[in-house]
Amino acid sequence: MHPLSAAELLHIWEIGQSQSYTRKALLVLMAAFPNEVETLAQMPIGERDSKLLSVREALFGRDLISMALCESCGERLELAFRTSDIHASVDYAEQVDSELKLEVARHHVLFRLPNSVDLEALEASRPTDAQAFLLEKCIVKVTKGKKRLASSELPEEVAEAVMSKMAEIDPQAEVQIALTCPACQNDWLAPFDILTFLWQELTAWAQRMIQEVHVLASVYGWPERAILEMTPLRRKLYLDQIRHS
Ligand SMILES: [Zn+2]
Repeated sequence: MHPLSAAELLHIWEIGQSQSYTRKALLVLMAAFPNEVETLAQMPIGERDSKLLSVREALFGRDLISMALCESCGERLELAFRTSDIHASVDYAEQVDSELKLEVARHHVLFRLPNSVDLEALEASRPTDAQAFLLEKCIVKVTKGKKRLASSELPEEVAEAVMSKMAEIDPQAEVQIALTCPACQNDWLAPFDILTFLWQELTAWAQRMIQEVHVLASVYGWPERAILEMTPLRRKLYLDQIRHS
């Protein structure tokens, strides 16, 4: 992984502002994995998210703190966990290279896992049934006996089986955290999305960085690039000087 500098990160955040979350993820990953630029968009969503988790570890560490509201009583819960708690061990190298197969109710289905290209197509066409849209993108071939079927002809039961197989193979694509409310003991599974989480952190970081550059440039007259190239410690020491003078 290429370590992202403050200047690179600020640039990614700035151009990502006007883009979809799928694009935001690709922007971060293209910068962090420059050798894999060609394949990032075709990566299954779980693999993308696994890479985003690694980027997050490198940028902000392994500890995550998130908030959740109890669905039953509305109590606010603070969730503290580590990136390793939600990092599934999936062997993507094996899965991406091979087409996935499933046999349900005499239907033979060949399929692949959804990727960023599919999500971008979904965002662009906004179909009423997002699941059916993704399924159609990801189904390579369906046969029943010797007859080849269109993916739109898939019976409900088979479509559901394919989707649950996808979730089973790529658990990283939809992370859920088991929660128990301390106030009412309600148990539930809360979804956790590394992409929106990381982007929120990046936004807070960028705003802080702009503020630091503003203060240091105003006082010392240094150019933005010189300030961004400093280590966080060096910036902090100068900011302390300004505060104490
Ligand atoms: Zn509760």
